[in-house]
Amino acid sequence: MKLEVASLSHIGQVRQRNEDALGHFEPTEKSARDEKGSIFVVADGMGGHRGGEIASKLAVETIISEFYSSKEGGVVPALRLAFKEANKVIIEKSKDDVDLFGMGTTCTVLVVRNDDAYFAHIGDSRAYLYRDGELKQITEDHSLVGEMVRSGIISDEDARNHPRRNVITRSLGTHEEISADIPTSPFGLADGDVLLLCSDGLTSVVTREEVKKTLESKSPRDACDALVDLANEKGGKDNITVQVIKVSADG
Ligand code: CA
Repeated sequence: MKLEVASLSHIGQVRQRNEDALGHFEPTEKSARDEKGSIFVVADGMGGHRGGEIASKLAVETIISEFYSSKEGGVVPALRLAFKEANKVIIEKSKDDVDLFGMGTTCTVLVVRNDDAYFAHIGDSRAYLYRDGELKQITEDHSLVGEMVRSGIISDEDARNHPRRNVITRSLGTHEEISADIPTSPFGLADGDVLLLCSDGLTSVVTREEVKKTLESKSPRDACDALVDLANEKGGKDNITVQVIKVSADG
């Protein structure tokens, strides 16, 4: 599969710092691409002082480097190891510096290897798949309101306006034991699929329908710009980060 990739991270209209981070890596060597594929990461940090900024950057850097340096065969074991290492690195850093105590981050990772896509995820950033006129959220939100929606207590719409919508139930860097979602089998990709990774600064203000319309009508570059503009027009209360990957069949 051929990938067309674009990304954008924006501070928004209110915050003093951008605590989101993103990264992606596509090996140029065919052997590395065949073995591990290409990786895409979005992280949304939290914590006082510069904690949030540092936690999200550490997560992105550690996950990408550990994923490719890991001797573990296969994408899933390498993702597990990369998450474990990122968790450890963030915890150690927060023990070193009292200002960083309690920092943590969400982390949503997508790996595309040949025709397969894998994800690994913790927190309330999201991954979506747009295919044939439908937008599907691939990840589950590890948040208080996400759990309430899944158990049928409140609706998606209620969740968006809920006073406790910022409460995250799982994150990297806050517990020795991590509980990330890392499914053991991938899902197949098809020509024309569009994947989106984003932080909640997008999804807390931009509707699903707006995301869908943008992904179906625009190139990855224009979609990133349009989604960030839309979130900013709607107040931009949080940092906004998007990464869009368009998949097409080779040749
Ligand atoms: Ca956020």
